[in-house]
Amino acid sequence: LERTALVPSVAGAELSVPLVTGTSIGYANLDHAASAPCLQRVRTAVDEFLPWYASVHRGAGFASQVSTKIYERTRGVLRRFVGARSSDAVVFTRNTTDSFNLLAKCLPRETSVVLFDTEHHAALLPWRGPRVHRIEPPRTRLAAVSAVDSALAACAQGPRLVVLTGASNVTGELLPVAEIAAVARKHGARIALDAAQLAPHRPISLRELDVDYVALSGHKLYAPFGAGALIGRADWLRAGQPYLAGGGATKVVQRQGNEFGVVWNSGPERHEAGSPNTVGVYALGVACETLAENWDAVREHEDALLRRLQRGLASVPGFAELCLFDADVDRVGTLSFVIDGFEPGWLAAVLSAEYGIGVRDGAFCAHIATRRLIREAGGEGQQAVRVSLGLGSTEEHVDRLLLALRQIVARGARWDYAKLDGRWAP
Ligand code: PMP
Repeated sequence: LERTALVPSVAGAELSVPLVTGTSIGYANLDHAASAPCLQRVRTAVDEFLPWYASVHRGAGFASQVSTKIYERTRGVLRRFVGARSSDAVVFTRNTTDSFNLLAKCLPRETSVVLFDTEHHAALLPWRGPRVHRIEPPRTRLAAVSAVDSALAACAQGPRLVVLTGASNVTGELLPVAEIAAVARKHGARIALDAAQLAPHRPISLRELDVDYVALSGHKLYAPFGAGALIGRADWLRAGQPYLAGGGATKVVQRQGNEFGVVWNSGPERHEAGSPNTVGVYALGVACETLAENWDAVREHEDALLRRLQRGLASVPGFAELCLFDADVDRVGTLSFVIDGFEPGWLAAVLSAEYGIGVRDGAFCAHIATRRLIREAGGEGQQAVRVSLGLGSTEEHVDRLLLALRQIVARGARWDYAKLDGRWAP
């Protein structure tokens, strides 16, 4: 393990936070599922690249050639990172949301789409029309596989697509991707994997899982914002309407009377009109390479912290965790909870202001899942608190959170906070 490569850069994130005791402490970012801090190696690579970046595919100049080479090479990096087939297309996008919207635009006419209603809005909302089947996931993994089986059997004739997250952004639980992919295959359907939350924590192989498409975001993979990817079967992408119309996506543009006759590219550039985010794509590639070289260390670090967190949370009075499944399942280090008698937004504000801990509160862009799971956990309301671990997390961060929750619960809800613009503030 190259430790320095894995230590996320927290430069600029060291906040001096006044504690109840008056001491100064470092900021504990327990919100990796929203966006993860930049890896040191990514930061160095970006620094070295900044003097050289230039427009890709558009210039004979040296910097342009370097940029083009790096940009195109990164398609191979992403292909390896997700274990894609050599025939798969790698399209660079802005993020997972962009990737699914792109895919939605490329679906053949009359494609039926099957998904759980608990998906993140990025995977839930891009598909429209009467052929979208949003099913409520049952409480066991086995029943979830059967539910997809039945939904696919009930679909009208024509192309079919299953959309599924690899890891829930609300509960961190892993979904039975390989099993659902096998069911999809049985029905001649395709499957698209939302790997926004899975890719930062586990290796993925489209080939081994027999999955057709995968979408991911760089900013959750320890690279800066603005670059993501859609990787998968080239045929629908080649035939689909270009995601954006503009330069770079075209082969030839000619006048045809009052119209323009356009021959669009058939490769991934078809969907990448406009000057692409070369620096972001490079950063994403370096992050993927770094993770791929260090999976064992990543797993060990995160599993140990997750166990520590779970042990501690179990003894916080009034604590109730949100879970998709009845039994314990394999999971990443993300979990959401409510604490009886405490408003999640208020809890998050106190954790931030008094303990220097950053967590997420709300419904996590998965409103249907969060609402239902809160109810099933015996809670009230529509919002919860989410804690998500990653490479920037330490034992001290976990212990601080546990101490904070115990202290807050012991002293009870205090109302020396006011709601300003919808957020609690001291
Ligand atoms: N899917 C899941 C499971 C997510 O957690 C997120 C981000 N919260 C997204 C999709 C969307 O990612 P982005 O905002 O980077 O498009």
